[in-house]
Amino acid sequence: MTKVAAVIRADNAKEAERQSRMALEKGADLVELRLDYVRDLGLSTIRKLANGVGQRAIATFRSRGQGGASGVDPPERTTVLREICRSRFAYVDLEFETDREYLRSLSRLASDHRTTVIVSHHFAQAAEAPRVLEALDACAAQGEIAKVAVPVVEFEEAVQLVDIVRSRNGRPYRFVLIGMGAGGMMTRALANSLGQEIQYASWERSAAPGQLSLGTATRLLARSVDELDGDAERLGVVNTVVLRDGWSAGHNTDVYGFRTSLRSLGLRVGDRNALVVGAGGAAKAVVDVLLREGAHVQLTNRTAARAEALAESFDDQIEVLPLEILTRKGPWDLLVNATPAGTKGVPDGFPVPEAVIGKAGFIYDLVYNPPVTPLLRTAKKLNRPGASGLEMLVHQGAKAFELWTGHAAPFEAMQRAAKEALR
Ligand code: NAP
Repeated sequence: MTKVAAVIRADNAKEAERQSRMALEKGADLVELRLDYVRDLGLSTIRKLANGVGQRAIATFRSRGQGGASGVDPPERTTVLREICRSRFAYVDLEFETDREYLRSLSRLASDHRTTVIVSHHFAQAAEAPRVLEALDACAAQGEIAKVAVPVVEFEEAVQLVDIVRSRNGRPYRFVLIGMGAGGMMTRALANSLGQEIQYASWERSAAPGQLSLGTATRLLARSVDELDGDAERLGVVNTVVLRDGWSAGHNTDVYGFRTSLRSLGLRVGDRNALVVGAGGAAKAVVDVLLREGAHVQLTNRTAARAEALAESFDDQIEVLPLEILTRKGPWDLLVNATPAGTKGVPDGFPVPEAVIGKAGFIYDLVYNPPVTPLLRTAKKLNRPGASGLEMLVHQGAKAFELWTGHAAPFEAMQRAAKEALR
């Protein structure tokens, strides 16, 4: 499926990181960090951005000749690109024309650091189909993904681009082909059905004429299933897809799993105070269930900006508490850990300072491996009841079983098998 990349054009690194986290929270699969917009871009800034959001980012240092904001001279550009290729970005964008001389060595450096190389070419003016195809092939020969952008004025020119894509038989490589300008919007809207690797979408301000907003791009992709269940539609998160006779449906089983586990654990949360730790997909499902059950929810996360973005995605009031002040807050009836902290092999054992654990009436750790996490061990020492994520895991697995097979799930057998596997 096409990945949606929100284009981030912030003029400083801190803001670029903040906006990236928000765009990822709002449903972008990736962000394109337009590093040519970052003033005072230095090696330490690049490393910091890579450590912060690099695993879900395309690092692009667009040259002025290809429509970028950076006017650095060639040696400085190559130094910046080397540092990008050495850092932990998921993708790097190299330019076929500008970086021609160093493409091979930069690509090798990037590959050594497990970074996927996009080789791009931006036409300054409209181009005939054979030239566009030639450019795609040339970029594909140098990188793992070929990206070509070409200005489009007339609707007919955009149709030609669609035809080019459809005529790609015999060119089995990953690609992005964009018709620039309002006339080329069709190439963006059809990105998924045309098999494009990445769809670039605007974030906050429009990055390029004709570019779809992040919300529109993700909505168009969500249509790539025929229907969504109520939970998936409300949260904009699908974790289970059912395919039958050319018909597809997207479901969110985290919501069901958490809600049902509350019942089976005998936890009533209506009008109670809950603290949720985390700001990813699981935290979103947990917050949704707690709010719908009538709980008062507070949220905390290692990266406060993500918690803010998650809180803002709900209509209800959710207070975001920085981790550092938690010891001065509470008490809570329920504390839910929706982070991987405490998971076997994950270094940080505790999602919150240990002093916070004693302030919660019940500790629900969504982590299920190991069955007794450091959080639950400490809760026990403090005489606080708690539960691991095993119950939720089995309930959501049972739901997926039913959706896929149309039969009632063998719940007890699944529960036994999960316990056995985690012993
Ligand atoms: P996610 O989207 O990747 O979000 C992870 C969240 O945890 C982020 O808020 C992240 O903070 C935070 N985080 C990551 N590592 C951390 C660490 N070492 N210390 C403190 N915070 C950390 O993941 P997810 O899908 O929401 O899943 C979160 C956890 O829930 C996973 O461990 C998963 O196994 C568990 N889960 C369990 C079930 C179940 O059925 N029991 C279902 C779903 C998920 P930043 O924003 O700062 O990166």
